[in-house]
Amino acid sequence: MEADQARRSRRRITKSVRFRITALATLVVVVVLVGTGIALVLLQQRALTSAIDDSLRQRAGDLAAVYAAGDVPARLGVGADETFVVIVGRSGVVIAGSENTRGLDTTALPSVEGVATVRVPEVDDDPFRLLTREIDGPAGAGLLHVAGSLDDVRDGSEALGNSLFVAIPFVAALLAALVWWLVGRALQPVESIRTEVAEISGSELHRRVPLPQTGDEIDRLAATMNAMLDRVEEASRRQQQFAADASHELRSPLTRMRSELEVDLAYPSTSDLAATHRSVLEEIDALEDLMGDLLYLARADAARGMLDTVAVDAREIVGREVERLRDATDCTIELDAAVPAWIDAEARSFGRAFGNVLANAVNYAEHRVAVSVRSDHGKVEVAVTDDGPGIPVEAHDRVFERFARLDEARSAEAGGTGLGLAIARDIVERHGGSITIDATYGGGARFVLVLPAST
Ligand code: ADP
Repeated sequence: MEADQARRSRRRITKSVRFRITALATLVVVVVLVGTGIALVLLQQRALTSAIDDSLRQRAGDLAAVYAAGDVPARLGVGADETFVVIVGRSGVVIAGSENTRGLDTTALPSVEGVATVRVPEVDDDPFRLLTREIDGPAGAGLLHVAGSLDDVRDGSEALGNSLFVAIPFVAALLAALVWWLVGRALQPVESIRTEVAEISGSELHRRVPLPQTGDEIDRLAATMNAMLDRVEEASRRQQQFAADASHELRSPLTRMRSELEVDLAYPSTSDLAATHRSVLEEIDALEDLMGDLLYLARADAARGMLDTVAVDAREIVGREVERLRDATDCTIELDAAVPAWIDAEARSFGRAFGNVLANAVNYAEHRVAVSVRSDHGKVEVAVTDDGPGIPVEAHDRVFERFARLDEARSAEAGGTGLGLAIARDIVERHGGSITIDATYGGGARFVLVLPAST
């Protein structure tokens, strides 16, 4: 169990951005340092070797001059860093040489001029630097071989290699610690944001994530997150309000029906059953309307943005609704729709939106409602004007809110749910249009629906 937990926490660490950045940075630095170290060792080797070559050349020059003068001793001495010196005649006979070349197999030595690193086991187990040069003198032409030890080069490389072997891991560890600390510091606000968001529950939507105030990406992320939390809080508040309003609206007719039935039961002799039935049926009608509206809004909220539109002439939809309401009212409905006005719409939804506005107009009009449909500059405008009491300018926004009623008594009597205009606005806006109340019109209410014309 504990081992399991330890393994999980190790996996979490190795998967963390902090770990990955640190590991990557350290790896890159180690690769660069090792590469540089190798290059340094090679450069040092080359410099030391070339110094040896120079001294071998110098020595060869000196010996060549002595040989040419004819006073070369048979036993040659060796310098500090020299391995051996030997002069071999054309016939392969050793003319002169250092002590350690006695009995040397001269055929193992190169026969052309040059400087190279060679290994001649007969002389030395380790490789050495050998300069070969043709010389001439009274004793005849021959080949001069001067060998120099590579011990210094090897020692130098070893010393440098050992230092790097200690320094590279030390620098890498130091850098890893620094990157780990820096990235941890930079990511600390992210962790605070995450912890805060994790703690925010449905009942604590007022909480916000801390803003690091650094002006960087994390600061912007925190600000964006807070803006999102604002929207979530607002949506949740509206949802709660909607549920509360809806329950209230549902409860009122139920209470009225219950009291009517209770009175009838308590006083059977004086009750008018037919009247109660009619009244209860009316309440049920109103309840059905309310349920329909609530259902529409719930579905519309869930299916935001999804519309199945076709090109239709707005006059067709408007005409159909006008005819429907004409049959149900005494008030005159005038229709002015002379030119085709094509829109992309879901006919049923748009008919519902317009129908809600028209029903209100008919409801509140004294005698007359005028409907006009126009198409102009890529827009289709449908206006509904009535000669009723109108709507005060300060309530022009409020009437579009859910469950908003200005005149409680009258709208309740008219069977209004307070959702008609909210639904109308929702539908029109989902069609990319707008619905407003004309504030300049003084003779009643004038609703204007504007939709983009079909292209
Ligand atoms: P309701 O179902 O109550 O009519 P609506 O959302 O359709 O709800 O309308 C909201 C309120 O706006 C109504 O209660 C009414 O007070 C006001 N209203 C809507 N249309 C008109 C109008 N043509 N004239 C006057 N008031 C209106």
